[in-house]
Amino acid sequence: MSSEVVLNLMIKVSEALVALIRALQAIVFPHQCRACLSIIDVSSVFCSPCLAQIQPIVSVLLPLTKTKTLKVIALASYNGVIRELVLKKFKGDRLASRQLAQLLLQMSPLAAQPVDVVVPVPLHWTRYAWRGFNQAVEMGRVIAGAKKAVLQSCIMRHKKTIFQSRLSAQERQENVRGIFSLHPWYRAVGMDSLRGKHVVIVDDLCTTGATLTQVARMLTPYQPASLTAVVAARTL
Ligand SMILES: [Zn+2]
Repeated sequence: MSSEVVLNLMIKVSEALVALIRALQAIVFPHQCRACLSIIDVSSVFCSPCLAQIQPIVSVLLPLTKTKTLKVIALASYNGVIRELVLKKFKGDRLASRQLAQLLLQMSPLAAQPVDVVVPVPLHWTRYAWRGFNQAVEMGRVIAGAKKAVLQSCIMRHKKTIFQSRLSAQERQENVRGIFSLHPWYRAVGMDSLRGKHVVIVDDLCTTGATLTQVARMLTPYQPASLTAVVAARTL
């Protein structure tokens, strides 16, 4: 038997083994709908009936300055199956974060949005240490990968905030004022990487918009071509 025939045979055997392992995996660990646990295709997040529950919402414009606004793209309002998926971060479920980004890319105006740089909203380090990951970074990584963009974690959060929804509009702005700063690395190398680029700020949830506008106000002086916020859900 020639070496070429042996090689082809080995490739065929390994392909068959991979297919067998995948088939066994699907039996032992079937891919389930994240809401109702019915068995679905491996590339899907929800089954069709659960997916149909997601009601797309229009993008909102938040005022940044007298002349500038920030467009906030969201997958859906904060309820139902999307709320459940957002809340899975408290159970250490990184896959849920990646799936939220996947849905945003498939079902929201983000699909048509040009993106060069992705800036995730940071967590305070104590929350990061407790949870082990930042849902915004996980989402940002998927979005950056799909858009062939750069994930740039250039913002740091150095103060924990109290839960925004208990506060008045004035208190919300006060609550987030001065909680963010530029990462020391970007203070050193500068932020020219944003100039003339389509920049997207990513977070899992937009409740008051105060956090997103605070981050946006930090980035606007670096003259991006466009600045847009993308969240999985919003309550606004
Ligand atoms: Zn389902």
